Amino acid sequence: MHIGIDVGGTKIELAVFDRDLTFVNAWRESTPTDDYARFIKTVSNMVFAAEQEIGSQASVGIGLPGMIDPRGVTNCPNVPGLTGKNTVAGLEQKLGRTIAVGNDARNFALSEANGGAGEGYERVLGIIIGSGLGGGLCINGKVFSGSNNIAAEWGHMLLPAVLQQRYDLPLRECGCGASGCIEQYFSGPGLIWLYKHLTGRDLDSPFATDVLLSNDEDAKRVADAYIDGLATCLSQLLIYYDPDIIVVGGGVSKETEVLARLPGAFPNAPYEGKQIPEIVRAKFGDSSGVRGAAILGKRLKKMPTA
Ligand SMILES: [Zn+2]
Repeated sequence: MHIGIDVGGTKIELAVFDRDLTFVNAWRESTPTDDYARFIKTVSNMVFAAEQEIGSQASVGIGLPGMIDPRGVTNCPNVPGLTGKNTVAGLEQKLGRTIAVGNDARNFALSEANGGAGEGYERVLGIIIGSGLGGGLCINGKVFSGSNNIAAEWGHMLLPAVLQQRYDLPLRECGCGASGCIEQYFSGPGLIWLYKHLTGRDLDSPFATDVLLSNDEDAKRVADAYIDGLATCLSQLLIYYDPDIIVVGGGVSKETEVLARLPGAFPNAPYEGKQIPEIVRAKFGDSSGVRGAAILGKRLKKMPTA
């Protein structure tokens, strides 16, 4: 059996999968965001409870929302209690075994490249458009993480000058410490901000996707700008990674019209005559985070040095 854990800013999800990665059962707890000791205790208790239920010890893979350096030290703006701590060592000590750790967005890409919407493609770019912008690149079914584990972390790419000028965008501060990261404009909360910036009014809904569904002329104008912005930023990723397929997850991906409009919004140059990769919705949706974490754990069991 394989346990996958996906840590978010509000909840921790743990799911058990069998040896064929078929889903068995899942549990959720709220995330202790500011208390490292309580975080370690909550996660390890969830693992022990799940193992008691399945009657055996399982491999454990976990996805964290942030940066994990090669020593295991984490920097998670959404779970500040983990920042600067060696979360990996803390969990391994409590669980009494080696665990596999990855970034949540890279785990999403891993899941979709293995049995998901990207199955059978050599280069799969997985992106999440939700409360933030995350991403991961898989090559031949394995995550290409780079030397700092930050490859395809596209939410912290800086705003293209063409977009800044076209929509008169100020440089917004990002949780990562930089200014002008595209996550601040094109994530779900970014879209709500963009609505106010372009219309002068607050959006009368807590759901960013309502902008994309509305027939109101102002909302349509904001939706057009948003699609233009996303496509322009994605076109940069094509230059970096030139993927065969882009698999999209997160709240915004549930609006199929957005995905349908993206390819047509890509800037012409320098793609004249080039094939824009297929842009498809994730197969496992919100479950891809735990599933990808379980795949990491499964591989760890087979290859202790991987
Ligand atoms: Zn940033």
